[in-house]
Amino acid sequence: MSSAATPDDLTRSLLDALKLLVSQRKFDLWFSGLRVVSRRADGLELAVQNPFHHEWIRTYYMDVLQRAVEDVVGTEQPFSLLVEDPPPEAVPSPTVRVAPVAAVPTPDPAADFRSRNTSYFQQHSDVMLNQKYTSDNFVVGPSNQLAHAAAMAVAEAPAGSYNPLFLHGNVGLGKTHLLQAICHKAMDSGRALKVLYLSSETFVNQFIAAIEQGDLSRFRYKYRSVDLLLIDDIHLLANKERTQDEFFHTFNTLYNDQRQIVLSSDSPPSEIPTLRERLISRFKWGLVAEIATPGYETRQAILRRKARDRAIELPEEVLDFLAEKMSKNIRELEGAVTKVFGYSQLTGRTIDLDLAREALGHSGNDSHNRVMGVDRILEVVCKHYGVRVTDLNGRRRTQSIVLPRQVAMYLTRRHTPLSLMEIGARFGGRDHSTVLYAVSKIEERMSSAAKFAQLITEFEARLQR
Ligand code: ADP
Ligand code: MG
Repeated sequence: MSSAATPDDLTRSLLDALKLLVSQRKFDLWFSGLRVVSRRADGLELAVQNPFHHEWIRTYYMDVLQRAVEDVVGTEQPFSLLVEDPPPEAVPSPTVRVAPVAAVPTPDPAADFRSRNTSYFQQHSDVMLNQKYTSDNFVVGPSNQLAHAAAMAVAEAPAGSYNPLFLHGNVGLGKTHLLQAICHKAMDSGRALKVLYLSSETFVNQFIAAIEQGDLSRFRYKYRSVDLLLIDDIHLLANKERTQDEFFHTFNTLYNDQRQIVLSSDSPPSEIPTLRERLISRFKWGLVAEIATPGYETRQAILRRKARDRAIELPEEVLDFLAEKMSKNIRELEGAVTKVFGYSQLTGRTIDLDLAREALGHSGNDSHNRVMGVDRILEVVCKHYGVRVTDLNGRRRTQSIVLPRQVAMYLTRRHTPLSLMEIGARFGGRDHSTVLYAVSKIEERMSSAAKFAQLITEFEARLQR
């Protein structure tokens, strides 16, 4: 399509392309309100009618959308997806008007600090904070009470009582959420604070890059000059001795300068394999708090909250059913709400117990309990990706091997009774955190790419046969 095409032309072409990629029903439901807002040098700007469509498309249809964009503009082209501004008549007009107190706006020092803190954060972090990961949105129960209270204390008074704060727990239980809630709260606390939040991966990668470029001093300055350093998933430093040593020095500098350190991990300090003893002992200096799997009542409270936030009406019996069934972690609970709601939209039925059963049945949840053999999993995965079993067990880390290896680990985790350690051993003597990492990578990918999620479902279907 020529670059002179107007947004309306592009919208028509894009919708036509989408019609060829999804069924009429799905098209009507999810894409009929999609529109091209603008085409700029850096990509297309698309918009949908409401936040729900936005979330649903982002979860299940990003790759379809990417294909359609490619079909229309001829090449791979980045695009962004926004929610339309509400039409003017939908904006409620204020009923009470407050007269301005003074003509000159009074400066708001808190806002000033907030914007300074935010700008520091944005310049130095490679991630955006998730706006939903605030303490207001965190449901507190017996499983996470201590971790939450400590996190809030740290955000209010960095380097006070709990330094370092070390949070640990299984995947999907709220570690990242709490770490980011600390960032939000600290940056909002009405004073200047340099806050740096990053994943261990980023720390490792930047360290390696700094060594390669012979520029360690800048790297050190960056990490050693902050007020609050939060590192997510610190267990990923296992087996990385040099980075551990570097982190040890970073830790000491910050600690001695009375700066706050917050760490998260999938296991307590002493159970992180190959972590140096001196780091283990330092991690225990402050407070080590576990985030445990939420009990039934907390799961109910979380479901209630997630449904309310998204204005979804969940009858009590459905809520109980979901709380009962989704007991592993909180990400799973969220996924269940999305599925049930989406299914009710798709079928036009109101949400009741039958519908919830059907919606979850779709994802083959019952089948998760079925035991199958690792050999069969390996066979199915290797065949699909055209790799050999020995490749999966080997040490190669090219993407063509890493992805099938992670998929096979994921399926083994979900469909066999093997422990993480046993799975690691089965896949060329890897440790449990590698398996956990693989599982979370695959879950992440499934939730962002519909096609990939479908592929995994197909594998599971094949495994049932
Ligand atoms: P982790 O980092 O431990 O793997 P996350 O922080 O990514 O887990 O949490 C997974 C999902 O569950 C996120 O969407 C998060 O917002 C949600 N979540 C976790 N704990 C809670 C909680 N206590 N209340 C509300 N939502 C939660
Ligand atoms: Mg996390």
